[in-house]
Amino acid sequence: MIRRICLIVPCFDEVESLPEFYRRVCVLAEGFPERSWEFLFVNDGSADGSAEFLDTVAAQDQRVKVLHLACNRGHQIALMAGIDFAEADLLVTIDADLQDPPELVLDMVAQVERGFDVVHAQRRRRSGETLFKLGTARLFYLLMKCLGGADIIPDCGDFRAFVPAVQQTVRSFRTPHVFLRGLFAQAGYRQCVISYDRDPRFAGRTKYPFLKMVTLALDATLGFTAFPIRAISGVSLVLWGISLVYLVRSLVVHFVFHGTVQGWTSLICLLFFFTGLILFCMAIIGAYVGRIFVQGQGYPLYWLSGVRNVPMGRTDGDEPREYRLARSTVPADEGSDGNGVV
Ligand code: UDP
Ligand code: MG
Repeated sequence: MIRRICLIVPCFDEVESLPEFYRRVCVLAEGFPERSWEFLFVNDGSADGSAEFLDTVAAQDQRVKVLHLACNRGHQIALMAGIDFAEADLLVTIDADLQDPPELVLDMVAQVERGFDVVHAQRRRRSGETLFKLGTARLFYLLMKCLGGADIIPDCGDFRAFVPAVQQTVRSFRTPHVFLRGLFAQAGYRQCVISYDRDPRFAGRTKYPFLKMVTLALDATLGFTAFPIRAISGVSLVLWGISLVYLVRSLVVHFVFHGTVQGWTSLICLLFFFTGLILFCMAIIGAYVGRIFVQGQGYPLYWLSGVRNVPMGRTDGDEPREYRLARSTVPADEGSDGNGVV
């Protein structure tokens, strides 16, 4: 039986949704008092009052735990921070904007009690999303399929439940280019999918503008496959074949038909085409090299500016590197809230 359930909630400027989110999860928890509930909010560098709201709630409700990241590190890293710190029999990652109905957690619990280790929530319908968002999402899955990137389940976001063994596995995949859907797909274990209708955002605007989506798509592709680099050699082979045919044709025209040298236009066109192609290939290689550069720096994924209701005394060797770094570089301000703010 699952006793402790921890909801991991990344939030970035969600002050309009948080009160309603908190109300909904409290109602959910009241319906199941035999289980112990924790709500681990990861404040991903919000600047709109979310931090103050979370601190106020945490002061009154011990179930509310808060990690304040010192700056915005992005949705995936915020989730990773939550995964690092959560301690429960079942962990559930869920968005703060109420697009993922918290009540679905009960279905997830049922699946885990049936023996599954990971339960993904798959979107059957997505209300309130723009055509652009739906279109780019479709394109994203199509690209994943074509490029052979991460083997992800279509229409599943990051609303999922999993057991501590999976948490340990996912935590061990440290990369600054986190793409959790790919990591979970890679992790194995017994996984299942349940469907749900995705609600519109409760308030505010999406925090995933086009550029962030492109970055996520790149992380999903480049982090899981070297196919684009291999494709460069394929493309160059094809072009080499075409140019060989063209060379033979030119030689025949010159020596057999004594044709005059013309074709300035085609030369220029080809020049543009091949220069563009070479630059594109360099960009692909550059994208991989850039990732090596970022990873080589070995910076922490995130660093904390404060915590609420999260014990800071863990000394096991398995603790996340960021946690040690935050503690060793910033002295604890014991007077500020008695919670060991780092
Ligand atoms: N989020 C975050 N950091 C970011 C962007 C988003 O923690 O840099 C959170 C956001 O507050 C929300 C969740 O991640 O709880 C999903 O973001 P959003 O709803 O904007 O994405 P969408 O549902 O539009 O894909
Ligand atoms: Mg959303």
